[in-house]
Amino acid sequence: MTDYNTQIVILGAGIGGCIAALALAPFYSVVLVDQQTEPQARVGECLAPAAGRILHKLGLLDLLTEGHISSHGLLSYWGTETPTLVDQLTNPDGHGWHLNRQLFEQQLRDRVQRRGIRCLWPASFSKCEQKPNGWVLDIQHKNKPMQLHSQLMIDATGRHSRFARALGVRRQNLDQQLSVWLTALVKVRKHISVLSSVPEGWWYSAPLPELPLIDTALIDADLLDTEQSEGQARLFALQMQAGKFDKNLSLSSAAFLQAAANAPGLNTLVQQIIPGTETLHGVVAANSSKLEQGCGEGWFAIGDAAMSFDPLSSQGIFNAMATAMQLADLLIEHGLQHKDIPALYQAQLDSIWRHYLAHKDHYYELVS
Ligand SMILES: Cc1cc2nc3c(=O)[nH]c(=O)nc-3n(C[C@H](O)[C@H](O)[C@H](O)COP(=O)(O)OP(=O)(O)OC[C@H]3O[C@@H](n4cnc5c(N)ncnc54)[C@H](O)[C@@H]3O)c2cc1C
Repeated sequence: MTDYNTQIVILGAGIGGCIAALALAPFYSVVLVDQQTEPQARVGECLAPAAGRILHKLGLLDLLTEGHISSHGLLSYWGTETPTLVDQLTNPDGHGWHLNRQLFEQQLRDRVQRRGIRCLWPASFSKCEQKPNGWVLDIQHKNKPMQLHSQLMIDATGRHSRFARALGVRRQNLDQQLSVWLTALVKVRKHISVLSSVPEGWWYSAPLPELPLIDTALIDADLLDTEQSEGQARLFALQMQAGKFDKNLSLSSAAFLQAAANAPGLNTLVQQIIPGTETLHGVVAANSSKLEQGCGEGWFAIGDAAMSFDPLSSQGIFNAMATAMQLADLLIEHGLQHKDIPALYQAQLDSIWRHYLAHKDHYYELVS
């Protein structure tokens, strides 16, 4: 069994975990652990304009110059048959981005490694124990047992909150929303998203820098060569509460796209899909939920591990970055052992959650 001592272990090398590692590493020894050898293709591509401030502060803004596209706004059919243009021109932070999500996560991991932070992947933890001077974490790294000794643990494992739940902390689910998503090449190039409410839930479609890597392998290479230069990769996603969920929509691209074509504002885009380029990715959880307690003695949760938002907000990635930075600022200012940090951090999480709920309620009331 290999033993390794560090001041901070961050579990989860998604966007939240990588941002926390980069912010903390100049001040503390950090080990970043992820169960996946590399980032996976996943839904969630819209990066809020305010994220630019965090990336700038960490010297990471250059990551967005290639492989991602800027987002200037969306056409909203939220409770109406006619569109409203929500333009980022009015946003003091400027435009946002449509990320190549897998690429962005890989870029962050590469930057973490280039800054000399110790990274362990693929590695999953099997057991943790709190001792008077910190944590002992048993992990399997590349199938070999390893013991990590750390003063502090950060749970950045996403909406399953693997570490906090292993401590017995429960998660509260506000609703049961699910999301089904599909990617395809579309003949027209439109750098604008479309948001559309329907009686059973709501639709979202956004341009992507390219089709997720996992899909291109399944698509006829000749088709991609001839059509991709003219077409544009696009995401289509439907959000519904579990009680209204029609399983057919997650099993058949044709059924999914037929339903999409009936949503206000989506028919033209659906008509422009290049046949044979569609990939239906299945169902993922998209509900609002949070840990009953986002931190405790010697541990903190950030990003989705602390609280996950409805995708309607388009704020999940920004929140992962922002909570990572808020925690890092507290730990850098006060040190790792200061007894007031959990209460200060929890108050920040509570405030984010209150604001989030107020916005969410406001938007859903418009279509209820
Ligand atoms: C349908 C849908 C659409 C969305 N669209 C958007 C959008 O447009 N814009 C936006 O801002 N947000 C969006 N989101 C939300 C956004 O994807 C999340 O908020 C964001 O991924 C949170 O980042 P994170 O780093 O906290 O967690 P995650 O991205 O979930 O990363 C967690 C990491 O932890 C690792 N991990 C998990 N368990 C373990 C373990 N036991 N040991 C080690 N490692 C582990 C995982 O491999 C992963 O790398 C969307 C979400 C959904 C469901």
